[in-house]
Amino acid sequence: MGTQLQQLGLAPGAGGELWNVEHPDRVQSVHRAYLAAGATLLTTNTFGGTSYVLEGHGAATRVDELNQAGARLARAVAGDRAWVLGDIGPFGGMLEPFGDALPDEVSAAFHHQARALLAGGADAILIETMSDSAEAELAVEASKSAGAEFVIATFTFQRTKAGYRTMMGTTVAEALVTVIAAGADAVGANCGTELSLDDYVMLTAELVLAANGLPVIVQPNAGSPRLAGDRICYDESALEFAAVVPRLLAAGARIIGGCCGCTPEHIAAMTSHFHR
Ligand SMILES: [Zn+2]
Repeated sequence: MGTQLQQLGLAPGAGGELWNVEHPDRVQSVHRAYLAAGATLLTTNTFGGTSYVLEGHGAATRVDELNQAGARLARAVAGDRAWVLGDIGPFGGMLEPFGDALPDEVSAAFHHQARALLAGGADAILIETMSDSAEAELAVEASKSAGAEFVIATFTFQRTKAGYRTMMGTTVAEALVTVIAAGADAVGANCGTELSLDDYVMLTAELVLAANGLPVIVQPNAGSPRLAGDRICYDESALEFAAVVPRLLAAGARIIGGCCGCTPEHIAAMTSHFHR
């Protein structure tokens, strides 16, 4: 979503969630393109929809408005042809004891966002790009208590000499056990700036082992981000991206999507594996 909105004119670092009310036509055009590409899950344009992140855009008091609008836009496009995932990203700070954010306040912010997404018509909540398992735990618990029937929790992992870890040094098994205990219904990985598609195949196998039987979702980037001038580029073509799908499935992935750099063309190439 972020990549697509930037192509439609959103300045890097600007609050894309404001477009849910300022440019609803552009947001819906992205949903329509993914639906036409064969996507069966549409993700709302609400990644930075907590009061914490919105505060940076002068919109901390607009949590209900912007998240409900985001869910409604996706819902209207999806109809009964796709599910709507209400998207929740990190709150953008650090919890105690690493930072000064209080768990109760962060939890309340996630609860507020999840409630608004569900009120706008989201079928499920997708918590993604998490690095701190304690934060992910709060987000899962808050989404469940807000009434979400199905909560997906995914982390961003990096490749280290010791194996795949979040930025906080958390292992795959540690990360997943935390969100599973908190009530997550599906678990997995998304984004991952330094991860290749081959990494994602190996990571998927590790996720499946740690998922305790829950469905595993993987949403790789379209390759590693590369700076070209002032633009961020992703080099994996749609065909290269799609070619890894059978290996992800063989490794046990049950839901496959794309994160940064993935375009409707990438999704269309991927879905060809399911519609044969
Ligand atoms: Zn991403």
